[in-house]
Amino acid sequence: MSRLRSRSATIAGGAALSMAYWLLGGLPLWMALAGVAALLAIAALWPVAEPASSTAPVAAPVPPLSGTTSDVGSPGSSSPTAAQWRAMLEGIPAPAILLGNGVLVTSLNARARDMFTVEAGQHLSFAIRSPDLIAAMEEARRQGQGQVVAITFGVPVERSLSVTVTPVAAKESGGGDPELLLVFHDRTEEQQLAQLRADFVANASHELRTPLTSVKGFIETLQTSAKDDPKARERFLSIMSEQAGRMSRLIEDLLSLSRVEMHEHVAPREVLDLAAIVREVARELEPVANGAGRYLAVDIGVEPALVRGDHDELLQVVQNLVQNAIKYGGADGKVAITVEQEGHRYAVAVSDDGIGIAPEHLPRLTERFYRVSARESRERGGTGLGLAIVKHIVNRHQGELKVVSSLGKGSTFTVLLPASENAAQ
Ligand code: ADP
Repeated sequence: MSRLRSRSATIAGGAALSMAYWLLGGLPLWMALAGVAALLAIAALWPVAEPASSTAPVAAPVPPLSGTTSDVGSPGSSSPTAAQWRAMLEGIPAPAILLGNGVLVTSLNARARDMFTVEAGQHLSFAIRSPDLIAAMEEARRQGQGQVVAITFGVPVERSLSVTVTPVAAKESGGGDPELLLVFHDRTEEQQLAQLRADFVANASHELRTPLTSVKGFIETLQTSAKDDPKARERFLSIMSEQAGRMSRLIEDLLSLSRVEMHEHVAPREVLDLAAIVREVARELEPVANGAGRYLAVDIGVEPALVRGDHDELLQVVQNLVQNAIKYGGADGKVAITVEQEGHRYAVAVSDDGIGIAPEHLPRLTERFYRVSARESRERGGTGLGLAIVKHIVNRHQGELKVVSSLGKGSTFTVLLPASENAAQ
């Protein structure tokens, strides 16, 4: 406790530093609070140089954020030592670099060392070259105020960084004292997620708008030109019913996807038999297959095939794969479904002898709304979400989805799930 008391100024300064980053928008609140917590821990553990007299004031002043005082580094002042600066840097939960003497790296934390190839004493350009960052640093020095700048970094994979530049000492301090603190925040993932969300909403709206526009058009026609034409009415109503079916399939798939995503990180606990699930799906889809000129050939090589899983979700995985095999199957019409044991896992494979998939499409098949041919998928009642749902369910079950396909010859989709005794508890 006495250590904490004795370092109240350091802690207050450090805490102010962390919170200032938060206020400047440079750090999320949790990171700023983590920084404060780290400073408290450092202050509590750091050995104290005992004061000469027990009544003498003990203070460890921290440098100003705005650089308005001139005593940092000046004789007789008690600016933080290099070790204290390092401790403070390590307390910042993001890559951070202290600069002195213009653009020389005075100190940096472990996170910055991981991100950049630069060491203390080297020029900043070893770490990063960005005219925008240099301009922000000049501005921070000139105004004595923090700046935030967005830059890109990294070859060949470009990352988007937001850099908070904070003056930590007076312009005239000199003498190798740190002058600027740079804290880097990687915004790449955030931006990619935002883009994914925007694309998803645009795709979903587009998919719903198309059938809706068609239904609206037919309603208008039925109210006007086709009002007294029973034949046209019959035909239009059947198209409208098809389009309504498409919309409802899409909404069902969207809801399934969001349900699956919501608990994707919770491992299922129920123990169930994959072979029984395959039989259930086969019973249910046999009439659909026959209606489309296909037939199902079920071969259960192992029974029971016990896995830890969610019954409805695994049912949906097998249903989606069999429905695709029926949709994209070939003239021969055979859809083969097998259950086998492969080491510590059970494999359900669904094969067809249909149109097949060219190799360049395989890596993207499980992306939402990705379709080899949107027209073909729509004509066959597809939504473009079936395999995305399969992927999320398989992930939740700690399984694997494998696709082998040959254009014009057919495809085999295999789902491998850990046998229940090997599944994570
Ligand atoms: P969809 O509703 O369009 O079938 P999916 O997510 O289930 O959406 O599948 C994505 C795409 O993968 C399909 O549009 C189709 O191009 C391709 N695909 C899926 N299964 C097969 C298959 N058995 N044979 C050929 N192509 C398939």
